[in-house]
Amino acid sequence: MPRVAGPPEERIITLESRGPLTLWITGDQLSPANGALRDADPATTIVLLVESLGRGAERPYHKRRLVLIYAAMRGYAADLRARGFTVDYRAEADDDATGFAAHVRAHAPRGVRMMRQTTYGLDASLREIAASHGLPVEIVPHTNFLSTGEEFDALFARGQRRVTMETFYRKMRVKTGLLMEGREPAGGAWNFDHDNRKRVPKGTTFPPPYVPQPSAFVREAIALVERHFPHHPGRIGVWDLPVTRAEALAFADDFFAHRLDGFGPFEDAMLTGELRLNHSRLSAAINIGLLHPLELCERAELAYRSGTARLASVEGFIRQLIGWQEFIWQTYWRFMPEYRTRNTLGAHAPVPAHYLTGETDMFCQREALSHVLDYGWAHHIERLMILGNFGLLAGIEPQALTDWFWQMFVDGWDWVMVPNVIGMTLHADGGIVGTKPYAASANYIDSMSDYCSKCAYDPKKAVGEDACPYNALYWDFMARNERAFRANVRMAMPLRTWDAKPEEQRSAIRARAAHLRRALADGTRI
Ligand code: SF4
Repeated sequence: MPRVAGPPEERIITLESRGPLTLWITGDQLSPANGALRDADPATTIVLLVESLGRGAERPYHKRRLVLIYAAMRGYAADLRARGFTVDYRAEADDDATGFAAHVRAHAPRGVRMMRQTTYGLDASLREIAASHGLPVEIVPHTNFLSTGEEFDALFARGQRRVTMETFYRKMRVKTGLLMEGREPAGGAWNFDHDNRKRVPKGTTFPPPYVPQPSAFVREAIALVERHFPHHPGRIGVWDLPVTRAEALAFADDFFAHRLDGFGPFEDAMLTGELRLNHSRLSAAINIGLLHPLELCERAELAYRSGTARLASVEGFIRQLIGWQEFIWQTYWRFMPEYRTRNTLGAHAPVPAHYLTGETDMFCQREALSHVLDYGWAHHIERLMILGNFGLLAGIEPQALTDWFWQMFVDGWDWVMVPNVIGMTLHADGGIVGTKPYAASANYIDSMSDYCSKCAYDPKKAVGEDACPYNALYWDFMARNERAFRANVRMAMPLRTWDAKPEEQRSAIRARAAHLRRALADGTRI
């Protein structure tokens, strides 16, 4: 398949200097090594940051997501000024176009340099704004990713439709040399998942959370968000995320010192009252550029080489960054914009009302949603196997659920959520990201958490008022999509189990599922 949207063309600005060269940096590009800054002379350039209220109002974003971005932009401007750059910070601009116009009036730049945007179509929009002022634009490659589109495309040899993450990940290990012993993987294996995926034993404790003191940037951004976006969902609560490079490094220090070694064993586990377990929660800082994936991987590897972290944990951490994250990034650019519209399983249900309130009798969802509403974050298994899995089983429309994830998570961006939700979570891409749907009944949730023992529903039952909703919806999902799954050998086992159920039981399960789907559609609490 031809690449539909690779790196935008590069155009070198050659106009004779009159005004400064504008280095236009957006809210997810707050890297000290942003490509637009490379070789920039502070004497002849000016950095532009537009704090666009219009962008914040485009969608009902979680308040914490907005606080994060606005605070981080303000912190970044201060960091650049300390490095000697002149920064034109357009605070509380109506939108990008208004902020840019005010910048042009004030500074009469001779041209614009920007780093490539991560959202499909945004390069063209910003280029158009600059062009409307007659200004040439140079777009330079993104500096926070390790793989290239060409490398990814080369894996799709001979018209191949899909490439597994595992194939891509191994290439990335070889390319970066991370956890390699010559040509072989450290420890003799590429993957140590069998050492991970453990349930948390009773009595296990986790290190206390590291909480940076909220800076003036955070306090200003909270006031701004409460002033302009009072009706947006989510709670700001106690601020506990890094918004500057220095804070992000301190946040990472805490992870490497106290959590990395124990990360692997419990990376898929869930425990009542535990937001974080040993997860790093660095994704929000990485996705806005405060931290570079490679510096984090190198630190993780150093921990393994120096004997302070076990290999299974280090490999699991590195896999998330140079495996999943890069794979998702490349999948987005290879298949957009058509990918965003995919709905292979024909799912059309709306996002349940309780995804915005947390008011449900399903204990697992109450826990996961309290994390989302209070922190704008939940770890990957709460996302995939509690909230995403429920969306898959209940037939929620892929585009609606993608938007919900994008809006409600502090690390949510289009390139992150489109392949993760449409592909991995909902299997709506026809099997590009995953070879089979991540569908699971209460069995999985019960095995990886302590939630079911506290729930009003019975995880062992599929029918009856007190039966766990996941169970009936799981079998109904198999039945509804039977034709699509028959050809997939990885779905043979659940389909055989469904086939073996007596007809009377199958009818009762489907009736219970229909009842649940109606309740979800009309907002009745379940
Ligand atoms: Fe979730 Fe079902 Fe377990 Fe309740 S019984 S916590 S709804 S999986």
